[in-house]
Amino acid sequence: MAQEVRGVIAPGKDEPVRIETIVVPDPGPGEAVVRVQACGVCHTDLHYKQGGISDDFPFLLGHEAAGVVESVGAGVTDVAPGDFVILNWRAVCGKCRACLRGRPWYCFDTHNAEQKMTLAATGQELSPALGIGAFAEKTLVAAGQCTKVDPAVAPQVAGLLGCGVMAGIGAALNTGQVGRGDTVAVIGCGGVGDAAIAGSYLAGAAKVIAVDIDDRKLETARTMGATHTVNSRETDPVEAIRELTGGFGADVVIEAVGRPETYRQAFYARDLAGTVVLVGVPTPEMKLELPLLDVFGRGGALKSSWYGDCLPSRDFPMLIDLHLQGRLDLGKFVTETIRLDEVETAFARMHSGDVLRSVVVL
Ligand SMILES: [Zn+2]
Ligand SMILES: [Zn+2]
Repeated sequence: MAQEVRGVIAPGKDEPVRIETIVVPDPGPGEAVVRVQACGVCHTDLHYKQGGISDDFPFLLGHEAAGVVESVGAGVTDVAPGDFVILNWRAVCGKCRACLRGRPWYCFDTHNAEQKMTLAATGQELSPALGIGAFAEKTLVAAGQCTKVDPAVAPQVAGLLGCGVMAGIGAALNTGQVGRGDTVAVIGCGGVGDAAIAGSYLAGAAKVIAVDIDDRKLETARTMGATHTVNSRETDPVEAIRELTGGFGADVVIEAVGRPETYRQAFYARDLAGTVVLVGVPTPEMKLELPLLDVFGRGGALKSSWYGDCLPSRDFPMLIDLHLQGRLDLGKFVTETIRLDEVETAFARMHSGDVLRSVVVL
């Protein structure tokens, strides 16, 4: 039977979010209902609320979540009721060209639940953020969006791997292919940049240079594994990174801001034939201008990293295992735990710069 639970709704462009009763249908074929235990507050949720992603209001926000599978629909064999899972927004199809070529992290046909959750009061259909909608006691997803991990991990820590932290770690490990002894610079030390630093540290980088305009963020970056810090409000980051790398530039520069000026810094702060990874998300009006001769002459690779080029079934369980073994401290990304009715205040705090992640615990 369909259930009624509480969820955080963005009712319209720039309107404050509020808690509403939502209707979660029983899982149909290929679907699962998950009892959400924790869900992080991400910038993307704020963008949905501001109307920056689409106009399909009302949105059911929340997408960095972990919880327990409550029920599954017909034909679901990979997860079962009682499984502890992280929700992902890359449920790969297994059939598209990318999947068939063995590159499922580029899947063009990732899927979500087919049935819609609705507002109990009006029957209006909800658009779940990134096809997840996990600021709710329960949510309906495609079973492929549930990735089983070791239940020994705390849910508020596990959920963060579902989006921002995976994007950052994956930018270093998967897209940047950071290896032992590499020099790495990370521009922008918010949650994603810090995760890129943690990923570079995990990969055995010899130097990890953190760049930001906020000294408090640089201090946090050190706890994530940065060996050097550069305040780019005071110092030219390109010069500083070159100086710290014997005059060469870094092997891999990860741009976690998503702006033309920081991209240009990343481009010139890498060694010849080095790699730039863009993981910061630009806005539609931004344009990049670079001398084409420099693009040619400096060689190397200019890459973008979307969701850290992750494959949830491969990366989530591995990273949770490394966390449980004490080799990757994902707990550092949780600044505070909050209640479901505190999401609006968490959005406000996100901009003050002293919160890495607020996590709703249910
Ligand atoms: Zn596919
Ligand atoms: Zn996110």
